Amino acid sequence: MPRPIQATIHTQGLRNNLERIRQRAPDARVWAVVKANAYGHGIERVFDGLRGADGFALLDLNEAQRVRDLGWRGPILLLEGAFELRDLELCSRLDLWHTVHCDAQIDMLAAHKTNVPHRVFLKMNSGMNRLGFAPQRYRSAWTRLNALPQVDEISLMTHFSDADGAKGVAEQMRVFTEFTHDLPGERTVSNSAATLRYAPDAMASDWVRPGIAVYGSAPDFPEHTAAQWGLQPTLTLAAKIIAVQDIAAGATVGYGSGFTAAGPMRIGVVACGYADGYPRICPTGTPVLVDGVRTRTVGRVSMDMITVDLGPTPSSGPGSEVTLWGRAVNGVVLPIDEVAASAATVGYELMCGLAQRVPVGVEA
Ligand SMILES: *Cc1c(COP(=O)(O)O)cnc(C)c1O
Repeated sequence: MPRPIQATIHTQGLRNNLERIRQRAPDARVWAVVKANAYGHGIERVFDGLRGADGFALLDLNEAQRVRDLGWRGPILLLEGAFELRDLELCSRLDLWHTVHCDAQIDMLAAHKTNVPHRVFLKMNSGMNRLGFAPQRYRSAWTRLNALPQVDEISLMTHFSDADGAKGVAEQMRVFTEFTHDLPGERTVSNSAATLRYAPDAMASDWVRPGIAVYGSAPDFPEHTAAQWGLQPTLTLAAKIIAVQDIAAGATVGYGSGFTAAGPMRIGVVACGYADGYPRICPTGTPVLVDGVRTRTVGRVSMDMITVDLGPTPSSGPGSEVTLWGRAVNGVVLPIDEVAASAATVGYELMCGLAQRVPVGVEA
């Protein structure tokens, strides 16, 4: 028998989340962001649930190839654009749209031999200071691109640093608007947080670029939960109890005796550890479901096991279902965002960190 641990992709959850995003931005087309192998889910595994998107956005050329291999004929956008001149040949061959964020990428386009002009997304650095042209240099970049025979339509793009928090998007939006208002072309500005929090009123744009919301995690947890945004889990990590220890008051559990029982307890030993992608930093008290009932981890996370308090589920034992995050068989959900918060990180990192050794199934 294989080790009892399993991840499950929920196709219906992906469809639901895409629909929720469309409701928030009814006039925009939707890029489903599938970079990082669809946030750890697997591009091939999410494709069916996301084929209703208007396009796929990603950054690795081999991932673009995989999306084309799945039969997708619609738009694909490279969010970081070309890394070297050769990449533009693949853009021509696979009909990829690509971001242009620096002069070197314009030079590459100028040097690229193609009969089919490329659709490009010119990126402004409106304040995040990662990628893009400074606002004052944006127009000259646009003019240079527009003069190239290798370039077809130019779309206008920026990315927010604080769409999920108190600072918000107003200042970056003001800068972007000031320096683009009289330029032609489609606009794309919003990630998940901006789409959920601002798109309905504040930001008319032609395309939105949600990633994390597609995968059922709230970009602004704990201010909002995924459920409050109407998002459903798309990735469940589940395992089983493989042993039970009845311990007395004063007994300790796990490496470093990281937990001491205050009274008699039943401890469930679960076939999931940090080598599966469960964060080692999760402290005693991290929420977990046993047979769909909420309880907590106790003691340190080890490579292949964690230990949980079976107090709330006295009838559970070896073979019982443990949900590390996602949906239990009884339908109860443990939001990935809660586990991420216990690990002082975000749902993104947990999804992306799902380990290679965990078998993944797809639920229709
Ligand atoms: C990753 C990414 C997104 C999606 O961000 P989420 O927070 O996951 O919605 C959007 N735009 C760009 C440029 C990105 O790199």
